[in-house]
Amino acid sequence: MRLDSVIFGGGAAGLWLLDRLSRDGHHVVLLESGALGAGQTIASQGIIHGGMKYSLSGLLTRSAISIREMPAVWRDALLGHATPNLTRTRLRSDCCYLWQTDSFSSRVGMLGARIGLQVKSESIENNERPAALADVFGTVAKLPEQVICPASFMADLANQYRDRILKIDAKSGLKFKLGSPGEVESIRLTSPVDGSKLELQPRQVIFTAGAGNAKLREMVGLSGAVMQRRSLHMVLARGALPVLNGHCVDGAKTRVTITSDVDDEGRTVYQIGGQLAEDGVKLEPLALAERARAELADVLPNLDLADVEWSTYRVDRAEGATGNGSRPDTIQVLCAGNVTTGWPTKLVLAPILSQEIASRASSPYVSAEFDSTPLASWPRPEVASLPWEESDRVWWALPEASFAPVRRAA
Ligand SMILES: Cc1cc2nc3c(=O)[nH]c(=O)nc-3n(C[C@H](O)[C@H](O)[C@H](O)COP(=O)(O)OP(=O)(O)OC[C@H]3O[C@@H](n4cnc5c(N)ncnc54)[C@H](O)[C@@H]3O)c2cc1C
Repeated sequence: MRLDSVIFGGGAAGLWLLDRLSRDGHHVVLLESGALGAGQTIASQGIIHGGMKYSLSGLLTRSAISIREMPAVWRDALLGHATPNLTRTRLRSDCCYLWQTDSFSSRVGMLGARIGLQVKSESIENNERPAALADVFGTVAKLPEQVICPASFMADLANQYRDRILKIDAKSGLKFKLGSPGEVESIRLTSPVDGSKLELQPRQVIFTAGAGNAKLREMVGLSGAVMQRRSLHMVLARGALPVLNGHCVDGAKTRVTITSDVDDEGRTVYQIGGQLAEDGVKLEPLALAERARAELADVLPNLDLADVEWSTYRVDRAEGATGNGSRPDTIQVLCAGNVTTGWPTKLVLAPILSQEIASRASSPYVSAEFDSTPLASWPRPEVASLPWEESDRVWWALPEASFAPVRRAA
């Protein structure tokens, strides 16, 4: 099958790009080796950052510059006023809150954040505070940062492009035929379900497979050492918790970033990141859960944590290498031969990555309507499960002053 482009990897980056290239008239197919978004997108907090995290130093960093236009881009897509059409993507919250503790560094951090912010924050009256922040120290500000459910975002795009998204077996059902390193002539696929074969002949190949990009690059004769991973150890808390989406600032850092969702049994689930998840990489899950409980008790003093259950998950951020292992300022794109490799660095930057890759892609050469009939019987990937919906996840209750937590089933 002759194609303009083949995209590998159906997380935020690949799916946004699939929409863009399809709308540009390209004959494009996306290949996914696992579940859509398995890796980072499904594990992310879904915050459509407007630059707050990057403005905490009080400086207008490159990250803050590239990110500050993004809330409007996403807002328009979520409303159906711009493409991609994300009107079926579930919005968890229309805003995030910024709060502080009474420590000196936290007060300074709040001041620095609000001066340096590239999105306008708005102080709110005590009676407008969400319940979780009713009694916290000092000012609470509201940020125009929406929070989406990443699973519904991927399902939304996958449903629109189902005919162009294929499940592959990247270990034993994928072979590249190369003209030279980085010059892909064809891609040979063996179906993971019935062993049937498919040959794709794309003009360009695009890797948006997150951490999978390194291996894919090696398969086409390019270096995999252009990627870095930065680890996180995230915390989950579930129970009768008040919904909260926001950041507690401390100095130039976000001490915790909390986003909320509701699980199938009606419990609120907190997904907790920020500095806690950076520091938590060195801790065992149970020790991190204990640490998280102490952090929450400190930053949200009136929260009742007695019946809350805890869990944790480890996940790596996969990005273009920066040389010193620090966070890249913005998206990363590498081109060699007819292969393009991209990392968005943040979910929110997927539109910029798409724009960058689409602007380099030459106009479609297959001029007829895209006909997906040859792909009709090929298996399709599912959307990955949200971390708290994984069937084998273990939750702990942490009884007060007990070091023998009760293990509970998922
Ligand atoms: C805990 C956490 C919280 C975050 N929170 C936020 C946030 O709130 N806001 C924000 O803007 N950003 C956030 N990020 C960053 C954001 O999640 C990532 O930058 C973004 O999701 C990366 O998307 P991606 O499509 O490049 O990669 P991924 O989401 O990792 O997707 C890669 C896809 O490629 C597939 N794949 C892998 N190998 C192959 C192969 N060989 N062939 C085919 N397919 C393959 C995988 O199965 C997967 O579907 C967070 C990241 C983490 C880890």
